[in-house]
Amino acid sequence: LGLGLGLGLRFGLGISLSAGLSESPTPQAELYFFSLQPYAMMRLALAAALLLALLGASDALKVLVTGAAGRTGSLVLQQLVKAGDQFETKALVRTEKSGKKLRRKMNRRLLSRGDPKFSKEAIVSADVTSTEALASAMDGCDALVVCTSAVPKPKMRSILKFMWKKMVLRKADPGRPEFTWASGPPEDVDWTGQKNQFDAAVAAGVKHVVLVGSMGGTQKDNFLNSIGEGKDGGPGNILAWKRKAEKYLIETGLTYTIVHPGGLLNEKGQQRQLRVGVDDELLADAYRSIPRADVARVCVHALTSDKYRNRSFDLASFKAGEGAVTEELDALIDSLEGKNCDYGKTPELVA
Ligand code: NAP
Repeated sequence: LGLGLGLGLRFGLGISLSAGLSESPTPQAELYFFSLQPYAMMRLALAAALLLALLGASDALKVLVTGAAGRTGSLVLQQLVKAGDQFETKALVRTEKSGKKLRRKMNRRLLSRGDPKFSKEAIVSADVTSTEALASAMDGCDALVVCTSAVPKPKMRSILKFMWKKMVLRKADPGRPEFTWASGPPEDVDWTGQKNQFDAAVAAGVKHVVLVGSMGGTQKDNFLNSIGEGKDGGPGNILAWKRKAEKYLIETGLTYTIVHPGGLLNEKGQQRQLRVGVDDELLADAYRSIPRADVARVCVHALTSDKYRNRSFDLASFKAGEGAVTEELDALIDSLEGKNCDYGKTPELVA
């Protein structure tokens, strides 16, 4: 803005001066012209300054991160902010409480680096199951990073029962804990909530959607589909609803990057060798976890790399210390040789 204003005043004034000179026939007339035109010159200078400032600001990619208070979403947000002027970042959170928590977390990191605080105005509260606030949240955005998800929450009674059977009765098969949903079932959050986001993105002219999904979407009997209860009283089918939303995203015609991570770890990023695959082939390996920070890194990179446009892939890592740390994320996606996940392999679990 400062540079724009400076250049605007300099060139705006210059333009006004030369415009004035070309219309004034004599030196006296020149003086007369300038004494009569200060407001016109000032307006011209300010208009030029504004134009240059706007041109300068448009260089930054405007990105909205949803699920931004979540564990992966907040890392995406941190990495975007850390990248500096390249991105202008907004965060969408489910509740004002989540927003406060996020701002505290962001500011602890930013202030420790001597950076300015994360602006309150850059955090929007909206439940993605309702379309109301989504349009204004996406207004003016170039890209959207979706990190919202239904969150399974174990039922306390079932945990106690499980522990009792396992540790006191020492049963060989203690069963497993039961789950409920912290903020709504997958049909609402992962299907309707994501569909609402994609519809709002189309309406707002957003160009690129990066979506964090999950590995396991080709497997009918994947354990994750069986946890929690669905709206129809059957299983939660979280992977199936996520997959349905991915297909919808692809059909919108928006540029997309769909990332299916394996088990997520709260560990430092950029410490491991990453690997990509399609159609859950990586699930055949014993180890398929990945730090959330690496998932976030791939999402942020995807925003600016052509190689990640219209791609859907699985993402995991090797164990820490195994292999060479992945530095080149374009080379990582190149290793797929153009392969993408095949949505024809989606089991029909939900209508
Ligand atoms: P997370 O911490 O569970 O965050 C999910 C976010 O979604 C939360 O911030 C939550 O908001 C938000 N959210 C939920 N319902 C919402 C609604 N109705 N409106 C607006 N926001 C809503 O996420 P994560 O564990 O980092 O996982 C990121 C993604 O990876 C998810 O899609 C997950 O399924 C997938 N994944 C997870 C694993 C794993 O091992 N956990 C493995 C593979 C893939 P609040 O903070 O306000 O509750």
